[in-house]
Amino acid sequence: MAKVLIIGAGGVGSVVAHKCAAVPEVFSEILLATRTKSKADKIAEAVGGNKIKTAQVDADNVEETIALINSFKPDLLINVALPYQDLPLMDACLATKTNYMDTANYEPKDEAKFEYKWQWAYHDRFKEAGIMALLGCGFDPGVTSIYTAYAAKHHFDEIQYLDIVDCNAGDHGKAFATNFNPEINIREITQKGKYWENGKWIEIDPMSIHKPIAYPNIGERESYLLYHEELESLVKNYPSIKRARFWMTFGQKYITVLNVLQEVGMTSIKPVLYEGKEIIPLQFLKAVLPEPSSLGEGYKGETSIGCQIRGIKDGKEMTYYIWNNCDHEAAFKDVGAQAVSYTTGVPAMLGAKMILEGKWKGAGVFNVEEFDPDPFMAEIGKYGLPWNEQINEALPVEK
Ligand code: NDP
Repeated sequence: MAKVLIIGAGGVGSVVAHKCAAVPEVFSEILLATRTKSKADKIAEAVGGNKIKTAQVDADNVEETIALINSFKPDLLINVALPYQDLPLMDACLATKTNYMDTANYEPKDEAKFEYKWQWAYHDRFKEAGIMALLGCGFDPGVTSIYTAYAAKHHFDEIQYLDIVDCNAGDHGKAFATNFNPEINIREITQKGKYWENGKWIEIDPMSIHKPIAYPNIGERESYLLYHEELESLVKNYPSIKRARFWMTFGQKYITVLNVLQEVGMTSIKPVLYEGKEIIPLQFLKAVLPEPSSLGEGYKGETSIGCQIRGIKDGKEMTYYIWNNCDHEAAFKDVGAQAVSYTTGVPAMLGAKMILEGKWKGAGVFNVEEFDPDPFMAEIGKYGLPWNEQINEALPVEK
């Protein structure tokens, strides 16, 4: 029996709220707080049964969050607002000795750059306070790191080559939309790509390396090499990794529209003066694009996200591919969300459950792969994200 405070009532927040409410033996009291309270109210109404209380909070304001925490006294705060709120929410957790978790690492608002260094710097303070912060417990980061930990524990003596592959083969029927917060999504894609090879990061121009990769039950899709945050913690926690890359699929139309938006300056995060007021083009663009939480209805097709690994077991080379396919329509039927929000929100709920049940415990700041993957892997299928594996077959990414 535990109290959980969820911050953020967008696409992911809605899934976390639905999933926590379905496990009342662990999440006995749930408070969903966000900037626009009416959005939290709508989710609470959809869940029904007075299972979720709601509140308004500006999570950039540490004092406001502290006051909210002091009034509700949660055992754990789940941050599914935006990466900008990670540090203020961690400060509020430190001040109130509350456990913290999130699904995306911190980014400064004025620089499109995400790195763990800012959050890792909180380790000693969390340790001294006797509380834990669990970073990156969505799907990627999140399940992809847990898959890697599971592979390392059960299948390899040494992981050497890691390719994380993320395909969304769904169709939402909109001219252009992003599957998670548009501002964060576009910042991620338009920055330089990066991968790890032989002990160093190799930087590439945005979207400049791509190739078709075949995905289970989907087929070949053009996949682009991007930088993704779990690469940073995985190469640190698995120093035997010689090369780590992250691939994501994009349709040609998405890329064409994104290129146009970029060329006309709509993806810029530098303020421009408009009718005497400073506005940030990317934030204005976010305001005109569909919200991720609105894409669920009528979304068809599947996502497929997994890890393709090559390494050594008992002196012999072996390959391992582990993945989940998630159907947009099935996700919508379960909790009224599209698969990208679903694949993020389900692991966030289960990570929270691992902490509250004491299966993952510690004092300090941790990435998910630092904990035993087994109890998480034993349950993730039951909550909607079953996994598949292939051993010693040619890896699609290497074909
Ligand atoms: P949405 O834009 O749908 O939702 C964001 C929510 O955060 C909104 O309810 C928004 O409120 C709220 N919010 C923003 N700023 C504040 C603030 N200052 N105070 C309080 N609430 C605030 O985004 P998503 O649900 O798609 O994404 C949520 C998070 O999940 C993001 O950090 C994203 O990067 C992460 N993510 C992680 C993935 C993974 O696999 N690890 C995959 C997909 C997403 P309002 O409605 O008022 O704007």
